[in-house]
Amino acid sequence: MSTGFPRIACALLSVAPMALSAQTLPGVAPAQTSASKAGGGTGTRTSEIWRDTTRTAAVRADALVKAMTKAEKLRYVHGIFPPMAKPMTSDMIPSAGYVPGVPRLGIPTLRESDASLGVANQVEQRKGDVATALPASLATAASFDPAIAYAGGAMIGSEARAKTFNVLLAGGVNLTRDAWNGRNFEYLGEDPLLTGVMGAASIRGVQSNHIVSTIKHFVLNSQETGRAVLDARIDPTALRESDLLAFEIAIADGKPGSVMCAYNRIDGDYACENKFLLTDVLRRDWKYPGFVMSDWGAVHSTEKAANAGLDQESGQELDAKVYFGTPLAAAVASGRVSPARLDDMVRRILTGVIASGLYDNPTPTSAQPIDYAANAEIAQRAAEAGIVLLRNEKGLLPLAKTARSIVVIGGHADVGVLSGGGSSQVRSVGGVPIEIPLKTGAAASFARVTYHSSSPLRAIKALAPNAQVTFVDGTDPVAAAKAARTADLAIVFATHWQTEAQDAPSLSLPDNQDAMIDAVAAANRRTIVVLETGGPVLMPWAARVPAIVEAWYPGQRGGEAIARVLFGEVDASGRLPISFPRTIEQLPRPRPVTSPTGATSNDASANAGAGDASLLPAYPVTYQEGANVGYRWYATRKDTPLFPFGFGLSYASTKIGNPRFSGGTNASVTFTVTNQTARTGTAVPQLYATSPDGGAPRLVGWSRQTLAAGETRNVTITADPRALAQWETAGWRVKGGTYALKIATDAQTTVAEGTVKLTDRRLGSARAAFDTP
Ligand code: BGC
Repeated sequence: MSTGFPRIACALLSVAPMALSAQTLPGVAPAQTSASKAGGGTGTRTSEIWRDTTRTAAVRADALVKAMTKAEKLRYVHGIFPPMAKPMTSDMIPSAGYVPGVPRLGIPTLRESDASLGVANQVEQRKGDVATALPASLATAASFDPAIAYAGGAMIGSEARAKTFNVLLAGGVNLTRDAWNGRNFEYLGEDPLLTGVMGAASIRGVQSNHIVSTIKHFVLNSQETGRAVLDARIDPTALRESDLLAFEIAIADGKPGSVMCAYNRIDGDYACENKFLLTDVLRRDWKYPGFVMSDWGAVHSTEKAANAGLDQESGQELDAKVYFGTPLAAAVASGRVSPARLDDMVRRILTGVIASGLYDNPTPTSAQPIDYAANAEIAQRAAEAGIVLLRNEKGLLPLAKTARSIVVIGGHADVGVLSGGGSSQVRSVGGVPIEIPLKTGAAASFARVTYHSSSPLRAIKALAPNAQVTFVDGTDPVAAAKAARTADLAIVFATHWQTEAQDAPSLSLPDNQDAMIDAVAAANRRTIVVLETGGPVLMPWAARVPAIVEAWYPGQRGGEAIARVLFGEVDASGRLPISFPRTIEQLPRPRPVTSPTGATSNDASANAGAGDASLLPAYPVTYQEGANVGYRWYATRKDTPLFPFGFGLSYASTKIGNPRFSGGTNASVTFTVTNQTARTGTAVPQLYATSPDGGAPRLVGWSRQTLAAGETRNVTITADPRALAQWETAGWRVKGGTYALKIATDAQTTVAEGTVKLTDRRLGSARAAFDTP
């Protein structure tokens, strides 16, 4: 069956690549700016309430809706996919989306770009347009540092605005339920609190540039195999306490202007026409005032979607038809969708546009200069903070600068570092030393195996100027072992590529890399393996390799970041946001679930083909682990992964002392953390809680502490009540009773335990109100 997906490739590739810098965008009348802000509307025509910045976004949006014609409203609720637009207008940037504005009212044209890890430019549709590439979101999550997430988001947002984009398809907060998931590298791990807090910080960073960020993909888009048809099934309470909780926290704290609904079905209904999720949860329970946009190719109906709560159809050319164009006009005319609902759709879009600051601060009309050097530093800091030291026998790391001969093996480390594929693909500053097209698979038309130009070999040479540093490509285990035998040190770079639209075919390293690592480790006792992966991989050689470093996809300064961690210029300070299994049998699903009818994952995972792929039969995927995702899954099964959630070694040895637990309304613990070594080091103490009902512990707080040599600090971690609470039909409740708390260095290693009594209380749902005047 043809999925239609190849159309996207043809469309993307047939568009004449456009150089962004040369482009000037014709007139969108700027909205009134600060002149009208002062003094409660000086210079504001009283009828133009929408320009009055002393009023709430919702009030201003409502006034705009009243001033719009029906045709203007209908035009603002569906977006064009520029690569397939006919015709492509002169102000359209080749990218993910375009929605024409209403210049007479200052309503901006929306120019949408993917932006999970940087301003994306898949298959270089904008010739020569580069951007700064952050490391994988898993690396950002591994920092356990919201400031790193904020800085990354702010950087992406600033580059996007300078490139005249104003809606960023960012904020991926799906929980990494499965190690297989091809998009894990775009997400923030397996824990709802960590994901929610880090996601919120990144969204706030993006929106600090007065542009809109999405949060995506709402919800349970947990695997790529069959994503356009599968029907995700989960216990409703478990859903509230897991994937929805991550969204709830990130929306309440991050206030994204838009929520992107996912491709998959949930409990029978497609995510983008799921009334329970879009109306009952998002609007009623969370009071979300912004707009819901569809994923690209995720709309399957007009009135069902509109009445369920979808506000804007994205990339309409990728749906089987344009559902929110003429068909929506007809549905409104006949009353199948009420005019009030159409107004509500537009009001919500405008609320997001106003609350983010976009309305009052229009994006520039031509590309602006960008300080790429400063932004590269942000990418490097994120990579350094997120690299995780998994094993370090006999203190092999940090490397002594006195090593005389170092052999670097594999992973194309001579030229660059690996990145993940799909819509998040950034064409990074510095160029693309390797770009390999795919011959088959669902991602073939829009993803290529792409390396950023940041050579670890070069960076290692720079930090070990007196050593002879050589490179062997690693394709031949015998040659690699031979080179390792005579060197002081062997540093092996191992890669595992992952991409949107496909799940990993295997969690083993491909291309004989396991055999190569074994051969090198047997030849040289001082072997270090550096992993560039989009998530967990199997490591059958782990016990035979003295040092293992998880560098994820480390972004455009990954080479430099890896070298600095290897040589101890910075501490190894990342902690795993996702558990690494020892074997695939430990996972809730030992393989991604495929269609029982034999429809291939290609048929049902490609985005542009969603219209066609949706004709394939749906098949259920039951998340029987419920809210026990990741470390909680291992806990309920009393099982031990290879490396647990929260784990990561430091070059410093830190000690936790004098813990004092307290309860009452909130649970908290105060303790000292001491750096016992003569170097700066980072500790990430974590607080886990078990409720009076028992069950698996939950991460309820953490604190990343970087301490000078010998320093002692007092630290308090207060449990986030949202991670302590249980979902009941009436809402969130922190059940009164005795909670077991533990301070831990990872989900399986406790350093201090205590119990506290908490008073029974209900939590209001997270209010996502955007602003108050
Ligand atoms: C992805 C989204 C992305 C969109 C636009 C979809 O295939 O699932 O994450 O934002 O395409 O490129």
